[in-house]
Amino acid sequence: MGGMIQSLLQLFYPHQCLGCGSDFLRLSHLLCSRCIHQLPETGFFERGDNPVEKAFYGRIRLEQAAALYYFTKNSLVQELMVQLKYRGNRDAGLFLGRMIGQALRTSGRFTDIDFLIPLPLNPKKQFKRGYNQAELICKGVNEVSGLPLLTDVVVRKQFTESQTTQNRMARWLNMEGVFEVRYPEHLVNKHILLVDDVVTTGATLEACGSYILAVPGTRLSIAAAAYTI
Ligand SMILES: [Zn+2]
Repeated sequence: MGGMIQSLLQLFYPHQCLGCGSDFLRLSHLLCSRCIHQLPETGFFERGDNPVEKAFYGRIRLEQAAALYYFTKNSLVQELMVQLKYRGNRDAGLFLGRMIGQALRTSGRFTDIDFLIPLPLNPKKQFKRGYNQAELICKGVNEVSGLPLLTDVVVRKQFTESQTTQNRMARWLNMEGVFEVRYPEHLVNKHILLVDDVVTTGATLEACGSYILAVPGTRLSIAAAAYTI
């Protein structure tokens, strides 16, 4: 867009960088380029045996796995997650997805992905929020990579108890039977990139991924926007 039009738009529709409050950014952007460059990148997309891949060793068979940013408290990454999950800010999801899309493109790994699948959300939670944040991230990835997105093939069937008070085993057992691959024929012999916002214990990704891997010939990789240490 031309500089003149951009200035006029900024005049009539002022908006500010979520990180520093600067108004020196494109209308469609959430962060200024300075704040984007300061986000704490993990470098995991370029490197195998990274901490996200290691977190899944012995649990589920993955081709590649990575998360883009470190998630730390009181950081801009945390603010992006808050915006995405609790403030109805869909642009935060699209932004993170585009950044993942760029990381995929330059990684040299993740080269033969057939489909993006967002980690399904509990139906009640999705209804309350109005969207699945992982699906917004997938849309951003799709914009940059062109990789097709499947949203109805893997679904989550029921609401589960709050996970905060349970240990990993209890959580995992609770997840069992929660996912369903509705149209497995779409996944046969495909390489799926399962996408989520944050990797913490990985329990839900593991549970969902095991359903995908139960379809003959599937291969699975995982991408997330952030990783908690
Ligand atoms: Zn900024």
